[in-house]
Amino acid sequence: MRIPKSVKYALQKLEENGFDAYIVGGCVRDLLLKRRPKDWDIATSAKPEQIQKIFPDSFYQNKFGTVTARIKERKNIREIQITTYRKETKYTDKRHPDKVKWAKTLKEDLKRRDFTINAMAMEIAQNTKRPLRRSEAHPVELGGKAQGHNLKLKANKFRIIDLFNGQQDLKDKLIRAVGNPKDRFSEDALRMMRAVRFAVELNFDIEKNTFNAIEKNAYWIQAISKERIRDELIKIIMSDKPDKGIELLRKTGLLTYIIPELENGVGVSQNRHHIYTIYTHLILSLKYAALRKYNLAVRLAALFHDIAKPQTKKGEWPDATFYNHDVLGAKFAIKILQRLKFPKKLIEKVAILVRNHMFVYDIEKVSEAGVRRLIRRVGMENIPDLIKLRICDRLGSGCPKAVPYKLRHLQYVIERVSKDPISVKMLNINGNDIMDALKISPGPRIGLLLNALLSEVLENPKRNKKEYLIKRAKELNKLSDKQLKELTQKVKEKKEEVDMELKQKYWVK
Ligand code: ATP
Ligand code: MG
Repeated sequence: MRIPKSVKYALQKLEENGFDAYIVGGCVRDLLLKRRPKDWDIATSAKPEQIQKIFPDSFYQNKFGTVTARIKERKNIREIQITTYRKETKYTDKRHPDKVKWAKTLKEDLKRRDFTINAMAMEIAQNTKRPLRRSEAHPVELGGKAQGHNLKLKANKFRIIDLFNGQQDLKDKLIRAVGNPKDRFSEDALRMMRAVRFAVELNFDIEKNTFNAIEKNAYWIQAISKERIRDELIKIIMSDKPDKGIELLRKTGLLTYIIPELENGVGVSQNRHHIYTIYTHLILSLKYAALRKYNLAVRLAALFHDIAKPQTKKGEWPDATFYNHDVLGAKFAIKILQRLKFPKKLIEKVAILVRNHMFVYDIEKVSEAGVRRLIRRVGMENIPDLIKLRICDRLGSGCPKAVPYKLRHLQYVIERVSKDPISVKMLNINGNDIMDALKISPGPRIGLLLNALLSEVLENPKRNKKEYLIKRAKELNKLSDKQLKELTQKVKEKKEEVDMELKQKYWVK
């Protein structure tokens, strides 16, 4: 576990100029958990203008004191967020502090952070330059060992500044608000969703008082912009345990204000083909999408594919039907994703997947024409994701086998019809060219000639030149139909060979 050179350099520069500087927030948490930090944040006593002076290659484009410094590290440039100590004043709208105030001490800065595990700082003593500061905030331990974490940092001494028992909560795997949870959520209601997000990303529980405060005040999330909600939702969905995340959103009551449509499926039974209720089936499908590391579009489609089943249900278990739920489901998915300000392209893709998730793949029912229609409807570029969605759907229904024979068979037919690897279309000449050159009229003979030419080109691809092919067509035209047919033997063999390879690829007979 290493702290990047550029980060140490930034700390050193700030200190040389007489300011205090600490690594803070998520990266300290991740270092202690031996996870790779996503980004590096520094908190400092320097004001934004002072930070900018120290780092000429930097920019400052917000009101919150965060200067982004660009520091070279070997061949790369790393962007490091350097933020002036802040404290937050009164909040009246549950999302923005009325005014951002600079703070004097690290302690004040740590106090305004959301959760104990995110409210730790780390001080690094650069080799010989100076000893570790006595923290103005708190007596903290010294030396190369943080509480029970046995963290080794090469050629560095460091100290963890942990004013709210974040290290204990890391050990106990708890997400706990700093200070009074209700007050903290009233300052910024998005923190309630962040609690869920960290719980799933780290596989932690939400501490009881913190959880209760979310449950009581979930409706505050309505004050938060859809974009910020979307970004947290994406992180939850892209985590390793998004099913747990959706379930936590539901249990805390947040889901009602984010995706209420999902709640309509809670406790709603299906039919003899399904052992799970609609809601459970949807989050299980999502779970398998995450287990298989599928992309965001497939995960969203897995979560939404049956979202309109409650509205289309006719009859009762075991004979209920859900006619048209795929069409209506696509509409619901569009509505939900538009409301949450997802990008247009992604919405279109998810809608296509939901709309087509019922595609037929019984071997007796799959015709080449049907497969061509499916490809045209869905777009070849979406076919792999549609198959992934079907895999999630199956696994989420409790089927043990993700990719049964008939699905592999469909994949085989799709590739066969989409690639059409061996065809007269490969030739640098077409039927019209032949009719012109040979002065013959349309008829089966054109096909025979083309196939005879293809046979020769397959034997020697260099022959695939228009001039040569025309010349050869004239010679071949002297042969009878029967003789021509014999010449196309090569094409047949080659097609069979390619087909065998394709069949082996998908394990079908
Ligand atoms: P990630 O691993 O996703 O980057 P992170 O903990 O670093 O997680 P960031 O959103 O990058 O989260 O924020 C960095 C730090 O800033 C947090 O660790 C936390 O201390 C503080 N912070 C961020 N957002 C909030 C917030 N809404 N309320 C209070 N503190 C916050
Ligand atoms: Mg971060």
